[in-house]
Amino acid sequence: MQNKNVILMIEDEQPIRRFLKPYLESHEFKVLEAERGEEGLALASSHKPDVILLDLGLPDMDGLDVLKRLRMWTAAPIIILTARGKEKEKVEGLDAGADDYLGKPFDVEELMARVRVALRHVMRLKQGGEESVFETPDFKVDLSARMVTVRGKEVHLTPNEYDLLALMIRYVGKVVTQKQIVKEIWGPNSGEQGASLRLYIHQLRQKIEAKPAYPKYILTEQRVGYRLKYEEPADNPAK
Ligand code: CA
Repeated sequence: MQNKNVILMIEDEQPIRRFLKPYLESHEFKVLEAERGEEGLALASSHKPDVILLDLGLPDMDGLDVLKRLRMWTAAPIIILTARGKEKEKVEGLDAGADDYLGKPFDVEELMARVRVALRHVMRLKQGGEESVFETPDFKVDLSARMVTVRGKEVHLTPNEYDLLALMIRYVGKVVTQKQIVKEIWGPNSGEQGASLRLYIHQLRQKIEAKPAYPKYILTEQRVGYRLKYEEPADNPAK
């Protein structure tokens, strides 16, 4: 039995903390709570949590500033909690280094799924990188051979389509903003590529999804970006 993962909640709404704490504890987390930004920053630096849940609407500081200050020294996954209707804030938070977001009100199962994805991602980086084969029941990508097989048949992807898919695999389960994708695929000075990106997403869906109009894997996160949704079967039974 390994040590419990420590999760820090920086959230000023007491009902949310009161509700989440026992739930997270029942999932084997040690929970730290802060209701203000400064307190959250202090706890983060003294306790080095494994995951941070950060509400962006805090009484004493702008949540985005808390995020930026955390990102100066920690790589721990940060999942931001945003109020309804603050779409711009989500994107800003993700572009400033948050790993994922949840809009309030959120579902606790969804929260747990995001936390699991974030922890798995960290684990993978620590273990020295990526698997060379990514496989779902519908498609398989051999990342070392750059080969894609869809329902048993080899499929040709253009270089941009392939790079986009490989990028999404690297962030599997996590949301990736348009800006992040454009920057990684076309480079930092490529400017506005939203239209091309939509086109490549469309093409990828045509090639990979069983029903491209109702994608199961390559999901659109409205006004934010895209998410490759696939939760691998537990690959680590010892954990
Ligand atoms: Ca709040």
